[in-house]
Parts: sequence; C-alpha cells; structure tokens
Amino acid sequence: MASLNSADFHCDVLWKLLEDPSLSFEHDTTNALDVTLPRLRQAGAVLQTFAIYVSDRTEKSMIPILRSIDLFHRKVLTVPDMTFVRSSDDAAKLQSKSSGKIGAMLSLEGVDGLHGDLAMLRILFALGVRAVGLTWNHANWAADGVMEPRGGGLTKKGRALVEECNRLGIMVDVSHLSDRAFWDVLHLSAKPVIASHSNCRTICPHPRNLADDQLSALLAAGGMVGVTFVPHFVASHHPVQITDVLRHIERICELGGIEQLMFGSDFDGIEEYVHGLAHPGDVEQLQKALLSHYSESTVAGFCSGNLLQFLVKHLPE
Ligand SMILES: [Zn+2]
Repeated sequence: MASLNSADFHCDVLWKLLEDPSLSFEHDTTNALDVTLPRLRQAGAVLQTFAIYVSDRTEKSMIPILRSIDLFHRKVLTVPDMTFVRSSDDAAKLQSKSSGKIGAMLSLEGVDGLHGDLAMLRILFALGVRAVGLTWNHANWAADGVMEPRGGGLTKKGRALVEECNRLGIMVDVSHLSDRAFWDVLHLSAKPVIASHSNCRTICPHPRNLADDQLSALLAAGGMVGVTFVPHFVASHHPVQITDVLRHIERICELGGIEQLMFGSDFDGIEEYVHGLAHPGDVEQLQKALLSHYSESTVAGFCSGNLLQFLVKHLPE
C-alpha cells in the first residue's frame, strides 16, 4: 500500500458505467475499470472525483447526465467505504481522516446537455455536482473546446454560466477549453478556477496542455492544476515514464505552484498509460519517485493535502 494518502480530481469511471451498467466499481472481476474500490484502497485514497462525461455517440441531454448520477449513487455511494463530498465540512472530515472513508466528488465534463438552461445547472448543484468543465474538445453553446479550429472564447450564455457557478459554489474547470475561452474564464471568474487534468505545454507541446503564462495566471488567481497521466500530454516519445511526469511537476513548482498542484489521472478515460502508472494502485511508484526529489510534506501536499486544503476553502458550507 502507498505510504502517503492520495487524491485524484479526474476519472471517467461513470462514463464506462454509463456505457456498460453491468460493470462493478466495488468488485470488478472483468478488469474493465482502472479505478475500483480495491485499487483506491491500495492507493491510500482519501478522495476521488468522478466526472460525468457523455460521449458523442450519446444524445446530448440531461438524460445521460442524470443516468450517470444515478449510477454514481447505486454503484459508488452504496459502497460503505465511500462518502459523498459536497461541502467544506465534508472535505475537512477527510483532512482529519476521522471516518477512514474515501471521499467521492461529482464533476461534469462538458455542459452540452444543459442546452443553455441555468436551471439545469442549479439542479445539478442540488444533486451534488461541485466542478464543471465547460466543454470537452469540441465547441458547444457555452464556449469553444481546444480542438475547435475557430478558437472562440465564451459565449454570452457561457459567461452567465460561469457567473452562476461562482454564485452557487461550483468550481469552474478550464481543462479542454480553447486558449481564448481559458482567458475569458480567468478574467471573468470571481473565484479561483481549476485545470483538473492538464499538463505543461512547455514540457510537452500538446494543445490540451497549458502554456506557462496560462499556468502562472491560474496560479496567481489561487487555482489548482491537476497533473494528468495521459501519455500524449506527458511526453511525445514512447514509452512515457514516471520520470516524464515529474518534469511537469517540476515546471509547475518553478511557476510557483508547489501548494496548488494536484493530480487528475484521467484513468478510465485513456487506453494507453504511462509505464508503471496504469491504475490508482500504481501511485506508490509515483510517490516513491517524488520522494527522491521533494520533502515528504511537499509530496503529501501534491498527493492529497493541497487539494483537500483547496476544497475546505472553496466548497460551499
Ligand atoms: Zn477530459
């Protein structure tokens, strides 16, 4: 078992469960899931955020979003080891480790299915969604994603969405946004924003990664960066190694983010893996590599402390 606690702000288990509701998060016998209860236990996990993601093959509406939340309740929250995290108090309990439980948070990746209706956002908040990424890679009613060639920013409705997220206490996630939409969000948001699963473009020049000026601005505004294990976002060579992940961490620290760094693995959203980092149970290897470069308290911050601190400060009461 990992020596330090771990936390992860992005996985796509709910998408796999939506595609195949016969899969089990608690007892996965098919090896179809990366993130499972035994592996989270192996990782010493204190928090896992579950993203709601609706693929292009499915109709973009509230129905698959609500189905994902139903699956989260039936397949994740019914497991006695798991506890729903919605408030600052919930996060503080994870910090004190009093319950011994693994916190489970809900995020939304892409607001396509809301069709510009902020009542739907308020309903999702009531159902416990606490982070919202405006787009996946494509454009939608709120903003342009990073693969939309026109490179537009926030729409008028997208601006209203960011303001409503701020008012409700939903964290705005800038991963997947076009550069222009990134800057629009950063200038508009009254609250710190997160990049749940993006790396450094200086280290690996992929459009899903953030440039140094973007990272610096996000950090200066008090936001969090989730270093991700998607091999194409880590390095352009093969195989991608854990030491390559460390280069991104080093860069974020150089930019002043030592206390604002977390992980957003993208497990269950990827088909290729960093060598030796294929599921949460492997984070021990990453921790070992980190401990040879950073102090134990710094590594504890990267692995869970920074994120829990941020949630205590920024989740609603
Ligand atoms: Zn993603």
